[in-house]
Amino acid sequence: MGVPLDENSSFMRGAASAPGQIRKALHSESTNLCSESGIDLGAEPRFRDLGDLELEPGLIALQQIEKAIARLLKQKVGVLSLGGDHSITYPILRAYGSNYDKLNLLHLDAHPDLYDEFEGNRYSHACPFSRIMEERLVKRLVQLGIRTLTPHQRAQAERFGIECIEMRMWQHETPLDFDGPLYLSLDLDVFDPAFAPGVSHHEPGGMSTRAVLHLIQTLQAPIIGADIVEFNPGRDPLGITAMLAAKLVKELAACMLTRVGAGH
Ligand code: MN
Ligand code: MN
Repeated sequence: MGVPLDENSSFMRGAASAPGQIRKALHSESTNLCSESGIDLGAEPRFRDLGDLELEPGLIALQQIEKAIARLLKQKVGVLSLGGDHSITYPILRAYGSNYDKLNLLHLDAHPDLYDEFEGNRYSHACPFSRIMEERLVKRLVQLGIRTLTPHQRAQAERFGIECIEMRMWQHETPLDFDGPLYLSLDLDVFDPAFAPGVSHHEPGGMSTRAVLHLIQTLQAPIIGADIVEFNPGRDPLGITAMLAAKLVKELAACMLTRVGAGH
Protein backbone atom coordinates (compact mmCIF):
# COMPACT_ATOMS: atom_id res chain seq x y z
CA MET A 1 0.00 0.00 0.00
CA GLY A 2 1.26 3.46 -0.87
CA VAL A 3 1.39 6.05 1.91
CA PRO A 4 2.11 9.28 0.04
CA LEU A 5 2.95 11.65 2.90
CA ASP A 6 5.99 13.95 3.05
CA GLU A 7 4.68 16.89 5.08
CA ASN A 8 6.83 15.95 8.06
CA SER A 9 10.10 15.99 6.14
CA SER A 10 12.60 18.44 7.59
CA PHE A 11 15.04 19.12 4.74
CA MET A 12 13.36 18.41 1.43
CA ARG A 13 9.94 17.27 0.22
CA GLY A 14 9.38 14.77 -2.57
CA ALA A 15 8.89 11.40 -0.90
CA ALA A 16 5.11 11.64 -1.38
CA SER A 17 5.51 10.81 -5.06
CA ALA A 18 7.51 7.65 -4.31
CA PRO A 19 4.79 4.95 -4.32
CA GLY A 20 3.82 5.52 -7.97
CA GLN A 21 7.45 5.47 -9.08
CA ILE A 22 8.14 2.25 -7.14
CA ARG A 23 5.11 0.62 -8.79
CA LYS A 24 6.39 1.66 -12.24
CA ALA A 25 9.80 0.13 -11.51
CA LEU A 26 8.18 -3.03 -10.11
CA HIS A 27 6.25 -3.54 -13.34
CA SER A 28 9.03 -2.38 -15.66
CA GLU A 29 9.54 -4.61 -18.65
CA SER A 30 13.26 -4.51 -17.96
CA THR A 31 12.80 -7.13 -15.24
CA ASN A 32 10.29 -9.61 -13.81
CA LEU A 33 8.25 -10.08 -10.64
CA CYS A 34 10.20 -12.97 -9.13
CA SER A 35 12.10 -12.78 -5.86
CA GLU A 36 15.64 -14.17 -5.93
CA SER A 37 14.31 -17.31 -4.21
CA GLY A 38 11.84 -17.81 -7.08
CA ILE A 39 8.54 -16.60 -5.62
CA ASP A 40 6.62 -15.15 -8.59
CA LEU A 41 4.62 -12.23 -7.22
CA GLY A 42 2.85 -11.94 -10.58
CA ALA A 43 1.35 -15.40 -10.04
CA GLU A 44 0.74 -15.03 -6.32
CA PRO A 45 -2.87 -14.14 -5.43
CA ARG A 46 -1.92 -13.29 -1.86
CA PHE A 47 0.23 -10.40 -3.12
CA ARG A 48 -2.05 -7.44 -3.78
CA ASP A 49 -1.54 -3.76 -4.53
CA LEU A 50 -3.98 -1.76 -2.43
CA GLY A 51 -3.15 1.53 -4.16
CA ASP A 52 -2.35 4.75 -2.36
CA LEU A 53 -4.01 5.95 0.82
CA GLU A 54 -5.91 9.19 0.39
CA LEU A 55 -4.59 11.50 3.06
CA GLU A 56 -5.78 14.92 4.20
CA PRO A 57 -3.28 17.68 4.91
CA GLY A 58 -2.03 18.11 8.48
CA LEU A 59 -1.60 15.77 11.40
CA ILE A 60 -4.96 14.10 10.75
CA ALA A 61 -3.07 12.12 8.07
CA LEU A 62 -1.30 10.21 10.85
CA GLN A 63 -4.66 9.11 12.29
CA GLN A 64 -5.84 8.12 8.82
CA ILE A 65 -2.75 5.94 8.37
CA GLU A 66 -3.25 4.26 11.74
CA LYS A 67 -6.90 3.55 10.99
CA ALA A 68 -6.15 2.11 7.54
CA ILE A 69 -3.46 -0.21 8.89
CA ALA A 70 -5.66 -1.28 11.81
CA ARG A 71 -8.45 -2.18 9.39
CA LEU A 72 -6.08 -4.33 7.32
CA LEU A 73 -4.64 -6.07 10.38
CA LYS A 74 -8.17 -6.94 11.47
CA GLN A 75 -8.49 -8.77 8.14
CA LYS A 76 -5.19 -10.58 8.89
CA VAL A 77 -3.40 -8.78 6.08
CA GLY A 78 0.35 -8.22 6.46
CA VAL A 79 1.06 -4.73 5.18
CA LEU A 80 4.11 -3.65 3.18
CA SER A 81 3.85 0.14 3.13
CA LEU A 82 5.57 2.33 0.55
CA GLY A 83 6.31 5.80 1.92
CA GLY A 84 6.33 8.66 2.14
CA ASP A 85 8.79 9.93 4.65
CA HIS A 86 9.68 8.16 7.89
CA SER A 87 6.95 9.92 9.90
CA ILE A 88 4.52 7.25 8.63
CA THR A 89 6.13 4.52 10.74
CA TYR A 90 4.78 5.88 14.05
CA PRO A 91 1.07 5.59 13.10
CA ILE A 92 1.73 2.25 11.40
CA LEU A 93 3.35 0.92 14.58
CA ARG A 94 0.48 2.23 16.70
CA ALA A 95 -1.78 -0.12 14.75
CA TYR A 96 0.70 -3.00 14.83
CA GLY A 97 1.45 -2.47 18.52
CA SER A 98 -2.18 -2.94 19.49
CA ASN A 99 -2.35 -6.19 17.48
CA TYR A 100 0.93 -7.76 18.62
CA ASP A 101 2.03 -7.66 22.25
CA LYS A 102 5.55 -9.03 21.74
CA LEU A 103 6.61 -7.18 18.65
CA ASN A 104 10.23 -6.83 17.52
CA LEU A 105 11.16 -3.84 15.41
CA LEU A 106 14.19 -3.78 13.12
CA HIS A 107 15.01 -0.31 11.85
CA LEU A 108 17.50 0.17 9.01
CA ASP A 109 18.56 3.79 8.58
CA ALA A 110 21.53 6.15 8.45
CA HIS A 111 19.70 8.14 11.14
CA PRO A 112 18.27 7.00 14.48
CA ASP A 113 15.20 9.31 14.08
CA LEU A 114 15.17 9.70 17.86
CA TYR A 115 14.80 13.45 18.33
CA ASP A 116 12.29 14.36 21.02
CA GLU A 117 11.11 17.04 18.60
CA PHE A 118 12.60 18.52 15.45
CA GLU A 119 12.07 22.14 14.42
CA GLY A 120 9.02 22.23 16.67
CA ASN A 121 7.43 19.09 15.18
CA ARG A 122 7.12 16.05 17.45
CA TYR A 123 5.84 14.04 14.47
CA SER A 124 8.75 14.96 12.21
CA HIS A 125 10.43 12.18 10.22
CA ALA A 126 13.34 12.77 12.63
CA CYS A 127 11.24 11.63 15.64
CA PRO A 128 9.11 8.49 15.02
CA PHE A 129 11.18 6.08 17.09
CA SER A 130 10.95 8.34 20.16
CA ARG A 131 7.15 8.24 19.92
CA ILE A 132 7.17 4.46 19.35
CA MET A 133 9.37 3.85 22.41
CA GLU A 134 7.50 6.31 24.66
CA GLU A 135 4.27 4.45 23.97
CA ARG A 136 5.95 1.06 24.36
CA LEU A 137 4.54 -0.09 21.04
CA VAL A 138 7.28 -2.70 20.64
CA LYS A 139 9.08 -5.10 22.95
CA ARG A 140 12.45 -4.57 21.33
CA LEU A 141 13.96 -2.08 18.89
CA VAL A 142 17.16 -2.85 17.00
CA GLN A 143 18.59 -0.06 14.85
CA LEU A 144 21.13 -0.87 12.19
CA GLY A 145 23.26 1.23 9.85
CA ILE A 146 23.24 4.32 12.08
CA ARG A 147 25.97 6.88 11.35
CA THR A 148 24.62 10.27 12.44
CA LEU A 149 24.15 10.00 16.23
CA THR A 150 24.10 13.32 18.07
CA PRO A 151 24.65 13.47 21.85
CA HIS A 152 20.88 14.04 22.31
CA GLN A 153 19.97 11.02 20.20
CA ARG A 154 22.60 8.87 21.88
CA ALA A 155 21.01 9.76 25.22
CA GLN A 156 17.54 8.96 23.84
CA ALA A 157 18.77 5.54 22.65
CA GLU A 158 20.11 4.79 26.13
CA ARG A 159 16.97 6.08 27.84
CA PHE A 160 14.74 3.82 25.74
CA GLY A 161 17.02 0.76 25.90
CA ILE A 162 17.42 0.66 22.14
CA GLU A 163 19.98 -1.74 20.63
CA CYS A 164 21.74 0.61 18.25
CA ILE A 165 24.21 -1.11 15.93
CA GLU A 166 26.22 1.73 14.50
CA MET A 167 27.45 1.39 10.93
CA ARG A 168 31.09 1.78 12.04
CA MET A 169 30.69 -1.28 14.33
CA TRP A 170 28.63 -3.47 12.03
CA GLN A 171 30.06 -6.59 10.38
CA HIS A 172 28.42 -8.53 7.58
CA GLU A 173 28.00 -11.52 9.89
CA THR A 174 26.69 -9.66 12.96
CA PRO A 175 23.86 -12.02 14.02
CA LEU A 176 20.33 -10.63 14.20
CA ASP A 177 18.12 -13.01 16.14
CA PHE A 178 14.55 -12.21 17.06
CA ASP A 179 12.16 -14.32 19.07
CA GLY A 180 8.70 -13.70 17.74
CA PRO A 181 7.10 -11.51 15.10
CA LEU A 182 9.21 -8.88 13.39
CA TYR A 183 8.31 -5.56 11.76
CA LEU A 184 10.98 -4.15 9.46
CA SER A 185 11.25 -0.42 8.78
CA LEU A 186 13.64 0.35 5.96
CA ASP A 187 14.79 3.92 5.31
CA LEU A 188 16.52 3.93 1.93
CA ASP A 189 19.26 6.23 3.21
CA VAL A 190 20.67 3.23 5.12
CA PHE A 191 22.28 2.41 1.76
CA ASP A 192 25.39 4.22 0.74
CA PRO A 193 24.38 7.10 -1.57
CA ALA A 194 26.36 5.31 -4.29
CA PHE A 195 23.68 2.58 -4.23
CA ALA A 196 20.65 4.77 -3.51
CA PRO A 197 21.10 8.36 -4.69
CA GLY A 198 17.35 9.05 -4.68
CA VAL A 199 16.97 10.07 -1.05
CA SER A 200 16.70 13.52 0.56
CA HIS A 201 19.57 13.00 3.02
CA HIS A 202 22.76 11.71 1.40
CA GLU A 203 24.84 10.14 4.16
CA PRO A 204 28.07 8.52 2.94
CA GLY A 205 29.46 5.33 4.42
CA GLY A 206 26.35 3.18 4.22
CA MET A 207 25.36 -0.35 3.28
CA SER A 208 25.60 -2.06 -0.06
CA THR A 209 22.54 -3.43 -1.83
CA ARG A 210 23.84 -6.98 -1.44
CA ALA A 211 24.45 -6.57 2.30
CA VAL A 212 20.82 -5.52 2.89
CA LEU A 213 19.45 -8.26 0.63
CA HIS A 214 21.55 -10.82 2.49
CA LEU A 215 20.24 -9.51 5.79
CA ILE A 216 16.59 -9.72 4.67
CA GLN A 217 17.04 -13.16 3.13
CA THR A 218 18.66 -14.61 6.24
CA LEU A 219 16.30 -13.20 8.89
CA GLN A 220 14.69 -16.17 10.60
CA ALA A 221 11.82 -14.36 12.31
CA PRO A 222 8.37 -14.14 10.72
CA ILE A 223 8.06 -10.70 9.10
CA ILE A 224 4.52 -9.52 9.76
CA GLY A 225 4.88 -6.06 8.25
CA ALA A 226 7.37 -3.67 6.71
CA ASP A 227 7.81 -0.23 5.25
CA ILE A 228 10.16 1.22 2.65
CA VAL A 229 10.47 4.96 3.21
CA GLU A 230 12.31 8.14 2.21
CA PHE A 231 12.60 7.44 -1.51
CA ASN A 232 12.68 10.85 -3.21
CA PRO A 233 12.10 10.48 -6.98
CA GLY A 234 13.24 14.07 -7.61
CA ARG A 235 16.77 12.97 -6.67
CA ASP A 236 16.71 9.84 -8.84
CA PRO A 237 17.07 10.92 -12.47
CA LEU A 238 18.24 7.50 -13.71
CA GLY A 239 15.63 5.53 -11.76
CA ILE A 240 18.27 3.50 -9.92
CA THR A 241 16.73 4.03 -6.50
CA ALA A 242 13.22 3.28 -7.80
CA MET A 243 14.52 -0.06 -9.07
CA LEU A 244 16.23 -0.72 -5.74
CA ALA A 245 12.97 -0.02 -3.90
CA ALA A 246 11.12 -2.36 -6.29
CA LYS A 247 13.71 -5.07 -5.65
CA LEU A 248 13.18 -4.63 -1.91
CA VAL A 249 9.41 -4.94 -2.41
CA LYS A 250 9.96 -8.29 -4.15
CA GLU A 251 12.35 -9.62 -1.51
CA LEU A 252 10.30 -8.41 1.46
CA ALA A 253 7.01 -9.62 -0.02
CA ALA A 254 8.56 -13.04 -0.67
CA CYS A 255 9.71 -13.21 2.97
CA MET A 256 6.31 -12.15 4.25
CA LEU A 257 4.60 -14.80 2.11
CA THR A 258 6.92 -17.66 3.00
CA ARG A 259 7.64 -16.92 6.67
CA VAL A 260 4.09 -16.58 7.88
CA GLY A 261 3.72 -17.64 11.47
CA ALA A 262 3.86 -16.62 15.13
CA GLY A 263 0.41 -15.15 15.16
CA HIS A 264 -1.38 -12.46 17.06
MN1 MN B 1 14.55 7.57 8.82
MN1 MN C 1 17.38 8.31 7.30
